[in-house]
Formats: sequence, structure tokens, C-alpha cells
Amino acid sequence: MNIVQTKTAFITGISGQDGAYLSKLLLEKGYRIIGITRNNHSDSLEKLMCLEIDGHVVMEECDLLDISGIITLINKYRPDEIYNLAAQSSVGLSFKQPIGTINFNIISVLNLLEAIRLIKPDVRFYQASSSEMYGKVSNLPININTPMHPLSPYAISKASAHWTVVNYRESYGLYACNGVLFNHESFLRSTGFFVKKVLHETVKNKNNPNWVLKVGNIDIKRDFGYSPNYVEAMWLMLQAENPQDFIICSGKSITLRSIIEYVFDKLDISLNKLVIDTEFMRPTDIVDIYGDNTPAKTKLGWNYELEFYDVLDILIEEEKADLLKK
Ligand code: NDP
Repeated sequence: MNIVQTKTAFITGISGQDGAYLSKLLLEKGYRIIGITRNNHSDSLEKLMCLEIDGHVVMEECDLLDISGIITLINKYRPDEIYNLAAQSSVGLSFKQPIGTINFNIISVLNLLEAIRLIKPDVRFYQASSSEMYGKVSNLPININTPMHPLSPYAISKASAHWTVVNYRESYGLYACNGVLFNHESFLRSTGFFVKKVLHETVKNKNNPNWVLKVGNIDIKRDFGYSPNYVEAMWLMLQAENPQDFIICSGKSITLRSIIEYVFDKLDISLNKLVIDTEFMRPTDIVDIYGDNTPAKTKLGWNYELEFYDVLDILIEEEKADLLKK
């Protein structure tokens, strides 16, 4: 008789972009998903509803700053894997809310690791690390040994969480690893983030004579990818024989300006509609960053070949289809 072994996964930050795509992927693989959210209200289900999977996930409310809630949930569901995606994830907002960002993004990780260490040390733990940790770099491409020089409160919080994960792996032998993801986008990205903002506003206001697109420094370069493909790397990391940290990226950087130019050209919009506004400038910013995804491809078998302009084509069509629904 064939016995189907179902694994249980916790996904913190399930209401976010990656939480939704990762849930979809794990459901397809037969997992039972426990989605952890700070507020179990209908907004938390919005992105899951977009992917038509909201009815297939068990939602639990838990404050990750309170370890007792985490312990209760681990005892209740006995998870095999925990994907920690919850974070104040905006670099820009972290300059306005440095204490809240640093407090949540570090203590939540420490609480999860302590709870695992104390009550279920065989849990496999994934931490959503970020390329922002590397910050002011002189040697590109970034690899996992590149020294970190964080340039924002967000980056500091992610660097600290990153080293906490390494420390729990080395000190206690936990299966805990960091996926250092570079910028990745999708239709489900929040409108506060650059690419989504450009696409959403531009498609919506294409024929509005009074609209202009206001942006900050668009001459910086970033390594952009596609979220539905990046969440697969998260899962692959927790299936490896040994826990290891990986860089997940496309391997190329492009300027924010070139993204706007591409989208405007596709939608036949004049560049006169572009306004540089100092309100959107950050106190410090990474000038250029891209990574080396070779270890993820060779050791994990992760497959990623998309050019970001191909991703933009997909996203423009999704924005247009969404506008027609309204
Ligand atoms: P989102 O911003 O879309 O989602 C973040 C999630 O974290 C949401 O579910 C949000 O819940 C939750 N969250 C935010 N603040 C808190 C808080 N104070 N307490 C509890 N929950 C909170 O991010 P993504 O899905 O894009 O990213 C997932 C993870 O990957 C994040 O940790 C992010 O920092 C990291 N990352 C993302 C990259 C990217 O390009 N997308 C690049 C590198 C790393 P709520 O809905 O209630 O606000």
C-alpha cells in the first residue's frame, strides 16, 4: 500500500507576496500549511484569494514577539518545516520606523529559533535574508562570503537575523538556513515597492492627462527576479541533505530608470510624465548590486533563466487584466 507522507509547514508572513506563492507551491507538493499572521482578518487572505488557495490553508494568529504563542503553535501542529517570511520588509519605511523594524525583524527570528531549540529541534527552518545586508559593496557579484556593510535599519535587522540563524545552526546543530534573496517582484507585490508602483500607477493612469509618476533616485541598479520562481529556491533549501545559506538572484542588475523606460515604451507613454521627487530619496542607497546564483543552480538544482524585461511583460499583462476586472 502506498502511504502518502504529508509534511506540515508553518509560513510566517503568509499574507505577503512570497507567503502566497510559497503556499501555492507547497500545496501543490501535498503539504499541510499553517499560515501565521499577526491579524487574522480578511485582508490577510487577499493574496491567497488572488491565487484561489485561501480555503486550503489553516490560518493562525500569533505575535512572533511573544515566544509563548510560537511554542503553543509548534506543540499543536508539530511542523516539519518553518518558513519565516514575516518582516517589516520595506527599506524606505525602515528609515521612518527604525526601532520597530529592528525590534520585530530580529526578535521574531530569535523567538522562533529558541522555540525550535527548546521543543522541536528537528524542525527545518528557513529565514528570509536579504541582499540589502551587503549594502556598500566594492566587489560584485555578491557571493555568500561577501562582507556585509548594511546601509539601512532594514539591512541591519536582516544582517542580525542572518547571523542569529548561522549561530543557532553552529551552536545547536539546528537545520536552519538563510536564503539571501535579491529583489523579486510579482503582481502580488505591495504598491509601496518600486516595480509594482510603476506598473500599477502607469497602467491605471495611462490616459489620465493630469497624472505624473513621481520617483526618487532611479539611477541605482538592482538585481531583479520573479517571486513565483524564487519561492521554489526556499523549498529546495529545506530539502537539501545539510543546511546551508544560498544567494538567490538573477545574476544581473539593471537601473530603475531602464524599467520605467521599458514600461513607458510598452504602454506608449511619454517620458515627460516622469518626475524626480526628493520626497522619495533615501538618506543612503546601494548604488549597484547583483549576485552569483551558481551555487543555488549547481547544488540545489534551482533553475532560473528569466530576463527581467520578460518578467515585466508578464506583469504588464497582469496589471491590464486586473484593471479590466474593476
Ligand atoms: P511582504 O511585505 O509582501 O510581506 C511581509 C509579511 O510580513 C506580511 O505577511 C506582513 O504581514 C508580515 N509583517 C510585516 N511586519 C510585521 C510585523 N511587525 N509583525 C508581524 N508580521 C509582519 O514581503 P515579501 O513577501 O516580498 O518578502 C518576504 C520576506 O522576504 C520578508 O521577510 C522580506 O523582508 C524578505 N525579502 C524580500 C525581498 C523581495 O524582493 N520581495 C528581497 C529579500 C528579502 P501584514 O500583511 O500583516 O502586514
